[in-house]
Amino acid sequence: MKILLIAGHGNGDPGACACGLKEADLTREVAAALLPKLKAYADVDLFDTSKNMYSYLKNGGVCNFANYDYVFEIHFNAAAADTAGNGKTTGAEILIHTTESGASVEEAILSNIAALGFKNRGVKRRSDLRNMNVCKKNYGVSYALIEVCFIDDRDDVNLYQQKKAEVIDAIVNGIASGFGLAKTETAAAGFKDAKGHYAEAAINDLFKMGIVNGDGNGNFRPDDNIKRGDVAIMVRNAIRYITGK
Ligand SMILES: [Zn+2]
Repeated sequence: MKILLIAGHGNGDPGACACGLKEADLTREVAAALLPKLKAYADVDLFDTSKNMYSYLKNGGVCNFANYDYVFEIHFNAAAADTAGNGKTTGAEILIHTTESGASVEEAILSNIAALGFKNRGVKRRSDLRNMNVCKKNYGVSYALIEVCFIDDRDDVNLYQQKKAEVIDAIVNGIASGFGLAKTETAAAGFKDAKGHYAEAAINDLFKMGIVNGDGNGNFRPDDNIKRGDVAIMVRNAIRYITGK
């Protein structure tokens, strides 16, 4: 299973702004937190967060969606107009293409998020979203766009800030249970050839954080030399883990 994560907006487009927050920052925060946790279940790529997928594709950029089994784009909603807070959340919804036959993954995610106290606005079918149309029509790959909650509803924002980690787990667990994914052997048991190595704990911790990867065969090869390119990837991953950017 290979998943592409996309953080909505960015590259000069802040998305919706309210309650002192910018949507483009929140979508990147969620994407960065999802990445290492989803990696325990699947191969996951995060689309370059310095780009805005919408304007990138519109201006002739190409994303080979055919490389993926599932695309998950993150947004926050607006138009609740409740920045003072009325004690009720406006909630979460997920948009999928009108041609999708089922929505069990998205329903699982939403029911997990609703269990945290957000209103469940349900799965909505759309045929007017550009990225989704490109992905579904040209590549036949399922595409889901989550609106995590409302950035202009104080109740949503407060609950999100309080329960951020649980929201991430709700999404990860929804995707894992919806697709029937088990934790990869490495995520469950660690790297085979790191067992007993002096760096075993550090290696497995860094893997869980999404900072290092193995060789794809369950091994880390802890005593091999490292290339400059791999150092760059590890440092980049570490900065993203710490800062969310
Ligand atoms: Zn948005």
